[in-house]
Amino acid sequence: MEVENMNSNSLQKLNGEICIICDLKKSTGIHLYTSFICVDCEKEMTNTQTSDPKYQYYLEKLRRVKNPPLYS
Ligand SMILES: [Zn+2]
Repeated sequence: MEVENMNSNSLQKLNGEICIICDLKKSTGIHLYTSFICVDCEKEMTNTQTSDPKYQYYLEKLRRVKNPPLYS
């Protein structure tokens, strides 16, 4: 019934992980604690100034990684 799922099927073949920043499945990236950050976002973060509002966005995402609600 879902003919258009052919795309997601081929995506699943990639040995990738879900990036916590962009929520996309990428095959290359770094691991931070138990989470995964793709190379694109990692590069993006490195190039972002701390004064940039975007940086806060990244921090927000990373905070969730560093403080998993499960282990409070
Ligand atoms: Zn990413």
